[in-house]
Amino acid sequence: MSHFATPSPADYPGNLYVVAAPSGAGKSSLVKALLEIDTRLMVSISHTTRAPRGQEEHGREYWFVSKAEFDAMIARGDFFEWAEVHGNRYGTSRDAIEQRLHDGQDVVLEIDFQGALQIKELFPSAVLIFILPPSWEELQRRLFRRGEDTPEVIAQRMVNARHEVAQARHFDYIVVNALFETALFDLKTIVHAQRLKYSTQRLSRPAVFDALQLS
Ligand code: GDP
Ligand code: ADP
Ligand code: 5GP
Repeated sequence: MSHFATPSPADYPGNLYVVAAPSGAGKSSLVKALLEIDTRLMVSISHTTRAPRGQEEHGREYWFVSKAEFDAMIARGDFFEWAEVHGNRYGTSRDAIEQRLHDGQDVVLEIDFQGALQIKELFPSAVLIFILPPSWEELQRRLFRRGEDTPEVIAQRMVNARHEVAQARHFDYIVVNALFETALFDLKTIVHAQRLKYSTQRLSRPAVFDALQLS
């Protein structure tokens, strides 16, 4: 029923950050830590056809839906982007981000590289950040240490990781997650720099810009 114009940065004053990484690089841990120290950021909750893991809750980590429900959402045009990742489907709904960006809130998407590239097409001002592990060996160690996936699933994720890492050159920023605190600092710096851009400052500090007759 609703009809949207093609999104453009001019319509949405909020900043959109897209964080991608091969599974196990530390994306969720880093984004979680970033959200704890930056209350102006909100994370988008994706829809997925994957089954919930141990502690995961519907509407907190993901909206867990059936394949049929996911298909219906695609058909209705409910997604800004969706992709198949490790055999399951994941998508960012319009509802998850559109209103917030429209209201000037900053939103983080934790999505795979295929989704990130789709988002960049729709929102050219989105900031794309790719998190790299320090080495393949360390990536595999982290996947085992996390203890969420079977050895078969980990082997598959390591194969997929090679393909994913090869996409890093399409991203605006690279954060190497060797030391966690250093990587978190790098992530904070990227978010901060975006907020200092002329176009963002003009929207967030209208009094100063008016006083100085800056348009
Ligand atoms: P989940 O959110 O419970 O799935 O946890 P994660 O797998 O994302 O991370 C587990 C915990 O370890 C979280 O509380 C992270 O903040 C923390 N963590 C992850 N990496 C590091 C690290 O390198 N150093 C420290 N000190 N804590 C970490
Ligand atoms: P992703 O969301 O990218 O799949 P996670 O955030 O779940 O990755 O991190 C994978 C595992 O690696 C977790 O057990 C996490 O605690 C650990 N980890 C994350 N960053 C670091 C780091 N810098 N050093 C050591 N372990 C880390
Ligand atoms: P996991 O099942 O480990 O939570 O996530 C698997 C992969 O799917 C990760 O690379 C994650 O970033 C990606 N993913 C999660 N949500 C979305 C989404 O909404 N869209 C896309 N394209 N990928 C997603």
